[in-house]
Amino acid sequence: MTALRVAIVGFGKIARDQHIPAIGATDGVKLAAIASRNASLPGLPHFSTLEELLRDGPPIDAVALCTPPQVRRAQAAAAIAAGKHVMLEKPPGASVSELDPLIALAARSGRTLFATWHSRFAPAVEPARRWLTPRRIASVSISWKEDVRVWHPGQSWIWEPGGLGVFDPGINALSILTRILPQPLFVTAAELYFPANREAPIAARLSLADAAGLPIDAAFDFRQTGPQSWDIRVETDAGPLELSGGGARLVAGGEVLVDAAETEYRGLYGRFVELTATEASDVDLTPLRLVADAFMLGRRQIVEAFED
Ligand code: NAP
Repeated sequence: MTALRVAIVGFGKIARDQHIPAIGATDGVKLAAIASRNASLPGLPHFSTLEELLRDGPPIDAVALCTPPQVRRAQAAAAIAAGKHVMLEKPPGASVSELDPLIALAARSGRTLFATWHSRFAPAVEPARRWLTPRRIASVSISWKEDVRVWHPGQSWIWEPGGLGVFDPGINALSILTRILPQPLFVTAAELYFPANREAPIAARLSLADAAGLPIDAAFDFRQTGPQSWDIRVETDAGPLELSGGGARLVAGGEVLVDAAETEYRGLYGRFVELTATEASDVDLTPLRLVADAFMLGRRQIVEAFED
C-alpha cells in the first residue's frame, strides 16, 4: 500500500504536540509538507500558505487542517477543489451550516472529508459505551475544567467569535457524551459566562436531556487552577460509571476497567487512512449542534475581564 501523503496546515500547539508524532507512528501515512506562516521543519518542503502549497508544492494526497476554526472552511474548500482529502481538527467549523457545502463538495469530488473528534478515540470511550448499553441510566454529570493559561497560552482566536471559548475543550466532553449515549440529546438550558473584554465564554453550565427526560448537567470552566478535571459520571442501575482523564480511565461497577495511555491521534490517522481508501467521509455535527444550541439558549452573564 502506498502511504497517504499528508501536508499539515497551521503549525501551532496541536500540530506539534499530536499530529507530527501520530503521523510518525501510524502505518500508511507520511508527512509530505507543511504550510505555516511562521514555522518549518528541517528537511520538509515548507510553504507560507495553503494556496502556495497547492500551487507549488510536492504531490500530496491530503491535508490536515490544524488552523483555528474560523479559517478552516475556506481552506477545506480550496483543498477539496484541488483534489485533496481533508482532515479537519475539531470543532469542524465556526458555524454549523458552513459544513453543508463542504460535505456536498467532498461527495461530488469523491474526496474524504473527516471531521475529527479526538476524544472519541480515547481508550476508555468505547468500553464505556459498551458497558452502558444494557444499563438503565438515571443521570449524567460532566465536569470539564482546565486552566486556559496552561492549555491555550496566547491563543487569541479562542476568544474571538467562532473560537468557542470554553466550549473549545467542552465540545470534547460533548463528543464523548454523544458517543456513549447514542440516543438524541438536546440542550434545555445554558448559562454562559463572558469576560467583560472577550467575545467568547470563559465558563458555562449546561442542562441537557433526552426524549425520556434523562437529566444531564455539564460544567465547563477555563478558570480552573490546581487539579484539572475532564470527567463524566453516569449513575446507572448497576452503580456509577466514571470516565476520567478525558476518556483515559474508566471505573464502572466498582472496578477499574481501563487505565491506559492515550493514543487518540494515532487512532484518528488510522481512521483517516481507512476513509481515504474508499473515498468515504465521516462528518458528525452532533457535538457542534449542541454547542450552537447552548449559544442560542444561553443566558449570558458578564464576569471579570480576562487577561492572558
Ligand atoms: P494554535 O496553537 O493557536 O495553532 C493554530 C495555528 O493555526 C497557528 O499556530 C497558526 O499557524 C495558524 N493560524 C492561526 N491563526 C490563523 C489565521 N487567522 N489564518 C491562518 N492560520 C492561522 O492552536 P491549537 O491549539 O493548535 O488549535 C488548533 C485547532 O486544534 C483548534 O481548533 C483546537 O480546538 C484544536 N485542538 C487543540 C488542542 C490543544 O490541546 N491545543 C487539542 C485538540 C484539538 P502558523 O503560524 O503555522 O500559520
